[in-house]
Amino acid sequence: MSKLNQVVTEIVEEMRAREDRGIVASYIPELGRVDPQNFGMTVIDAEGSLYSGGDCETPFSIQSISKVFTLTLALGKIGERLWERVGREPSGSPFNSIVQLEAEQGIPRNPFINAGAIAVTDVILSGSQPREALGEIIRFMQFLADDSSIIIDHTVAASEQQHRYRNSALANYMKSYGVLKNDVEKTLGVYFHHCAIAMSCRQLAMAARFLAHAGLNPATGCSIVIPDRARRINAVMLTCGHYDGSGEFAYRVGLPGKSGVGGGILAVAPGLASIAVWSPGLDAAGNSHLGRIALERLSQRMGWSIFGP
Ligand code: GLN
Repeated sequence: MSKLNQVVTEIVEEMRAREDRGIVASYIPELGRVDPQNFGMTVIDAEGSLYSGGDCETPFSIQSISKVFTLTLALGKIGERLWERVGREPSGSPFNSIVQLEAEQGIPRNPFINAGAIAVTDVILSGSQPREALGEIIRFMQFLADDSSIIIDHTVAASEQQHRYRNSALANYMKSYGVLKNDVEKTLGVYFHHCAIAMSCRQLAMAARFLAHAGLNPATGCSIVIPDRARRINAVMLTCGHYDGSGEFAYRVGLPGKSGVGGGILAVAPGLASIAVWSPGLDAAGNSHLGRIALERLSQRMGWSIFGP
């Protein structure tokens, strides 16, 4: 058995047995119905071999992990001009915080807090209808994961839409500064639906291969983005991917990563592997509690931290 195989098997065993599982998000009521006992993990190495365990085939709500892919799409559409609409500094605030928006004239700190991701979604929506924009996003995910079965969970989207007060406030506030160009409700609708994409660990790790391999899909040699862009998306994941838990994640795991309130975390070991973990219970910053611990174990045992072994 290879070392990676053994490490993944041991991590999955440990995580399935642990009793400290964090708290499942319930502010989107539909997410609160997910069983906290779930744990899944997939690692895909540079040769394309898959190392998986636990509930790695069960689709879950990817939520904010979708923001990595919408950022990629928006950069593809308007390039570096995107940074006129959204910053790239860590916020040090919770993902749904509104405080910085007033001090910074409606420009969100980074594309991964909710305000920033809503601004990015607005860029993707410009020039098309919500249905077309969503079609573009879902087809991009299917293409990257090489899997046409990936879908949006409309029940989760509707559940979030019904309780959209906080995100509505963020979006309306940005609209008042002209940062959003489209109808606020349309932009929010696209945002809620891309957050509600359901994917398994295996599908997510497949979709992120290009970030681990300088913008290339290693299986086909197909270029998704230029190396420079992949490197920079990874940089923003490292500094902003876990909100006000980003410093702790860098300290413990040392890999670019993006969490979602569905309990998933996508992580990238540049040149080595793409990784997805899922455990629905969250810590106080809204990041998967066991997901983070699992990634800490993996990165330590494999010597994968980008800061050194
Ligand atoms: N759709 C969620 C929200 O807007 C995404 C948050 C997250 O995953 N951190 O609240």
